[in-house]
Amino acid sequence: MHLPDLEIAKKRNKSDNKYIELKENYEPVLKGKKYFLRTYGCQMNVHDSEAIRNYLEALGLENTSDVNNADVIVLNTCAIRENAKDKVTGFLGKCHYLKKHNPNLKIVIAGCMSEQPDVVNEIMKKHQYIDIVIGTHNLYDLPKLLIEKFQKQVIEVYSESDEVIEGINYTRDSKYTAWVNIMYGCDKFCTYCIVPYTRGKERSRKLESIVDEVIKLKNEGYKEVTLLGQNVNAYGHDIGETFSHLLECVAKTGIERIRFVTSHPWNFTDEMIDVISKYKNVMPYIHLPIQSGSNKILKRMNRRYTKEEYFELFTKMKERIPNVAITTDIIVGFPSETEEDFKDTLEMVKKCEFDGAYTFIFSKREGTPAARMEDHTPMKVKEERLQKLNELVNFYSHASNQKLLGKEVEVLILGESEKDNNKVYGYTDTMKLVNVNGPKSIIGEIVSVKITDAKSFSLDGDYVKEGVLS
Ligand code: SF4
Repeated sequence: MHLPDLEIAKKRNKSDNKYIELKENYEPVLKGKKYFLRTYGCQMNVHDSEAIRNYLEALGLENTSDVNNADVIVLNTCAIRENAKDKVTGFLGKCHYLKKHNPNLKIVIAGCMSEQPDVVNEIMKKHQYIDIVIGTHNLYDLPKLLIEKFQKQVIEVYSESDEVIEGINYTRDSKYTAWVNIMYGCDKFCTYCIVPYTRGKERSRKLESIVDEVIKLKNEGYKEVTLLGQNVNAYGHDIGETFSHLLECVAKTGIERIRFVTSHPWNFTDEMIDVISKYKNVMPYIHLPIQSGSNKILKRMNRRYTKEEYFELFTKMKERIPNVAITTDIIVGFPSETEEDFKDTLEMVKKCEFDGAYTFIFSKREGTPAARMEDHTPMKVKEERLQKLNELVNFYSHASNQKLLGKEVEVLILGESEKDNNKVYGYTDTMKLVNVNGPKSIIGEIVSVKITDAKSFSLDGDYVKEGVLS
């Protein structure tokens, strides 16, 4: 078993003696105890949960999917949307009930909510039975805190740190596809977003360390890596590097598939487009949030581009990257959005014909500038706009999927299909979900699949043969 916490402790403390002493003396306290881990929010949180799982298992805790049997409950929270926060507070009710019946149960709140002092104060006032609140920057201290917690009653709340954690030996959730953090934090300060406050300023990992991690993953048999950052293509500006250079170095490792999320249009350079179009193992798929089609709203969001600039970039990508698929994020009902502004957004969706879009109604995040903006649009109007937008978005994603009917595409098969045990599922190079008629033996392989049906959100297909990346 890897001991990622030990490795991090070494990197942080220079001397690992204190940590080894802690581990040797107190490991038995936790051995055989069960943990239940629930993750809310984005890929970054899913990836952080892999780390949490590793930290806990390195100390001898065992995973349980039954919260009623847990000795430790970890909620890895999200602060991006109100409903994510509501889900966490809803689940805390259950935790409280369990704690009443088992006072030794330890409850840990991790993730973005833990980085918001107001939210933490509110939660701690209401839910005084919580044992540990740990921020996103300090996850590696979880084992130490947990050991301490089983010894004495101390609550520790962590705040921002500027540390950059280099390569860590995670045991990952998947054997075929892995996330690789390349940077932390975000400096963009979009007015609706809490991330710059919860994840801190942009800090890039060293290029060599990222490339080494990818080579290691390739040698372990991973087929795909996704380079991860809140603002992934801003990578390197703080260490004299560029994302295009990193992408090229990662492409040269020869790993079969490379993806990256999430890109900001403002940081997307021609060099990045060149690298994506040059290397076959860089997937022709870009998630490029537009957020709004109205220049007035984009300005109020502090997105740093106009709809014209976005479309110019979008067109360049379409022209220069063969068969590229582009998806986006759109917020409706941002404060002061008029019917005209909303029509501008619909216009942009029509012009871009996105392969897919994640659409949301604006929700206030306390502590952000947008939370203080006046917002007179009734919720009913926002809901109607969202519905109209979704109809249009679904129309184009269906149309884009239809273009694949009858074609053979390469699919990385990731597991059994959730909908039908007799099928397997995977993703095309353009990140389209395919349910495949094929044997379980192709799980973990990149294979050719003939598309037989196309819906708005997924494709069906028949396994043809093992795929070859030319
Ligand atoms: S780019 Fe904007 S939306 Fe994305 S994480 Fe940074 S502040 Fe948030």
